[in-house]
Amino acid sequence: MLVSKLFFSLSLWWMILVVFVYSLFLVYGAIKIQANFFMTSINETKTNKKQIALTFDDGPLENKTNLILDILKNNNIHAAFFCIGSQIEKHPSLLLRMHNEGHIIGNHSYSHHFFFDLKSVKEMQNELMKTGDIIEQNIHKRTRFFRPPYGVTNPNLARAVRSGNYYSIGWSRRSMDTVVKTEQKLLRNITGKLKAGDIVLLHDTAIITVQNLQGIIDVIKNKGFEIVRLDKLLNIEAYA
Ligand SMILES: [Zn+2]
Repeated sequence: MLVSKLFFSLSLWWMILVVFVYSLFLVYGAIKIQANFFMTSINETKTNKKQIALTFDDGPLENKTNLILDILKNNNIHAAFFCIGSQIEKHPSLLLRMHNEGHIIGNHSYSHHFFFDLKSVKEMQNELMKTGDIIEQNIHKRTRFFRPPYGVTNPNLARAVRSGNYYSIGWSRRSMDTVVKTEQKLLRNITGKLKAGDIVLLHDTAIITVQNLQGIIDVIKNKGFEIVRLDKLLNIEAYA
């Protein structure tokens, strides 16, 4: 009796432990885009050329995106901008400027809602479709690049991305420019372990990035890296 009781409580604890560890595993898979757990994202590439790509998320934003574009133009560098649909509606001229100056436009959802990852497949499809349409109305091209808001992936998003025929684009170098406080930390995050084929995640909405982009570019170049446009780094077509 005692033995079976003991066995029962032990196996219950084991079960709870297994469920707990499994849940941790799922959460890790959801928040760590590089894990490629629920869907495959392109986070970097293998190359023997010392090349990397810069990507900017969450714009376009007034008084910030234009400053980023000025710096890129002065340095003759082309980047990829993962834009939020609702932001494009507010600043279509900034989207057009990105495109006209040779940058690539990617889809970063319509709302970038904090609970985006809790939406249904249909809702996610609508967000991707709506933003794809807005981009197309402005630049007359259909982007195939999509970056998940917050880098969070799950089965619903995997289906939405597949049905929209998108490449899911992650990153290998996270600047943490939405949270870091000092230029030194920002530079270390980006250039500390920089390697050929890296995709760098930045935000054209982050003031620290606006203020330090020239310095970041200089350090990257001084380390012997060439900054190339994302589609060229990956050798895939950005538009359908
Ligand atoms: Zn974002």
